[in-house]
Amino acid sequence: MGKIHGGCLCGAVRYTAGVSPMVTRACWCNLCQSLASGNATINMAFPVEEVVVDGQLKDYQSTADDGNKMHRRFCPECGVHLFSEAEERPGIIVIRAGTLDDAEQVVVDGIIWTAEAPSWAYLDPGLPHFEGQPPAPR
Ligand SMILES: [Zn+2]
Ligand SMILES: [Zn+2]
Repeated sequence: MGKIHGGCLCGAVRYTAGVSPMVTRACWCNLCQSLASGNATINMAFPVEEVVVDGQLKDYQSTADDGNKMHRRFCPECGVHLFSEAEERPGIIVIRAGTLDDAEQVVVDGIIWTAEAPSWAYLDPGLPHFEGQPPAPR
């Protein structure tokens, strides 16, 4: 995979990642279903030092269902969520895959928080499933 470029809907926030993601997961937790209009979010984890962000973000802080303190950052102009970080996993930044310029760069490795998915959710049987939050990538 080459460099990853992306940004929000209005263009006020742009970012670049210089490496491939450590892991990419679909998340069906209840909060992600809100963010993704009733679907899973697709989340790519990167070492924080590999992601360069240009633009102002707003930070929505909340506690995840496993107790992690989450910071979910979004563009205050257009409202698109771009990043999330957990205080318990310093050094890792998650990019919301829907903000990539090229969605073909996304390869999903697994599905998490399946316990919170609705009965009609499609969970690819070819991917690993996790009922909750799996261990952080190394
Ligand atoms: Zn924006
Ligand atoms: Zn989630």
